[in-house]
Amino acid sequence: MDYDVIVIGGGPAGLMAAIAASEHGARTLLLDKGNKPGRKLGISGGGRCNVTNAGETEDIVRHIPGNGRFLYSAFSRFGNRDIIAFFEGLGIALKEEDRGRMFPVTDKAKSVVDALVNQVRRQGVDMRLNAPAARVLYEDGSVAGVCLAGGETLKSRAVVIATGGRSVPHTGSTGDGYPWAEEAGHTITELYPTEVPLTSNESFIKSRELQGLSLRDVELTVWNTKGKRIISHEGDMIFTHFGISGPAALRCSQFVIKELKKSGAASVRITIDLFPATNKEELLEELVQLAETEARKAARNGLKSLLPERLIPIALLKVDIAPDIPCSQIGKMSWVELAAILKAFPVDVNGTLSLEEAFVTGGGVSLKEIDPGTMGSKMMPGLYFCGEILDIHGYTGGYNITAAFSTGYSAGRSAALSL
Ligand SMILES: Cc1cc2nc3c(=O)[nH]c(=O)nc-3n(C[C@H](O)[C@H](O)[C@H](O)COP(=O)(O)OP(=O)(O)OC[C@H]3O[C@@H](n4cnc5c(N)ncnc54)[C@H](O)[C@@H]3O)c2cc1C
Repeated sequence: MDYDVIVIGGGPAGLMAAIAASEHGARTLLLDKGNKPGRKLGISGGGRCNVTNAGETEDIVRHIPGNGRFLYSAFSRFGNRDIIAFFEGLGIALKEEDRGRMFPVTDKAKSVVDALVNQVRRQGVDMRLNAPAARVLYEDGSVAGVCLAGGETLKSRAVVIATGGRSVPHTGSTGDGYPWAEEAGHTITELYPTEVPLTSNESFIKSRELQGLSLRDVELTVWNTKGKRIISHEGDMIFTHFGISGPAALRCSQFVIKELKKSGAASVRITIDLFPATNKEELLEELVQLAETEARKAARNGLKSLLPERLIPIALLKVDIAPDIPCSQIGKMSWVELAAILKAFPVDVNGTLSLEEAFVTGGGVSLKEIDPGTMGSKMMPGLYFCGEILDIHGYTGGYNITAAFSTGYSAGRSAALSL
């Protein structure tokens, strides 16, 4: 037997799995097909590495809409507090930013990736880079090892598949692990892009007149085709040349995809509440006051203190107010309609960018066939999964990375202890 445990994939899940396996006494090999492990981790959180999130466990689970509840057991063994303690133990001081996001004090992803890789080496894990696995070997109904792309065969009693999803393939995540899982009898639920910018054919998007305009602290709501609210997310967003993006839009994306698929409709309505902290009546009062103070100004100028300049003509057009009409001549009903539009500015979205362009892959190895206590396969003894290859996806903000570290720890530990 060459190794006790072979971990395939050097992302956050695989690096942590290798550390946990060797910590629990297994002779461990970590394989990565690239020349640098942790490439996606290195570009997360805007290149500063969003190591984890400081929220309570319940809060973290709530922010993992793709099967977060599956993670309770993994979190109880190695949760966000353990991740924070682990990095601080390696000398990586962390700081908390908005919405509980944790970053290295250095603001440098490299310091996190280097610390992880050094720890892998320090624990005596063999690490082979530029070593793409081609297949997991199964013999007599259990795991037997791994075959590399060059034909070399490596034997082991346990294999941890940590090859990630299929998004942003230049980081090495090209979906290689799914067929290996299928060969072992696993089901792969449909893959789809999540945390992905939304596309729209609205005339104000096509004309690019709003391109680059960002809106801070707005609330986006996704509506189903029957006009019922599906979900709302507060945060920042940005208009792009193809649609909308930014944290709030990314969070809405999976709900848009699911509704488009479910309804078969060509588009799904999103509304933007530009003033989520103000109710419609208060906003109307503000508009009426503005009509008095800016009475002689044209509507397009009078509204500048309230709205981004580029949005004004589009909002006015929606309620049939001529942009050049003086504020004093705008009737009460028009102000009522304008207040309504500013509380629910509609953008019909018809899709998303591709799975490859998404931050996270939705779908993956079906959790029905995975033991949540060990991350072990219920189909093939000796086979373990962790990270984004599983049918688990969270919002950006450290939730996916927490899931990857946590399931990685659980898989590596269980693989070692099973021997
Ligand atoms: C731009 C960007 C920003 C992000 N920001 C955030 C954020 O702020 N917060 C958050 O929670 N999440 C974020 N994510 C998502 C997060 O980075 C991923 O969910 C996480 O990296 C998944 O970890 P993983 O270990 O499962 O897989 P990956 O990180 O994808 O690692 C998989 C590894 O497997 C290797 N591999 C693949 N196939 C083979 C093979 N055949 N043989 C050997 N090795 C192989 C790859 O080379 C790669 O190193 C972001 C993603 C992107 C793209």
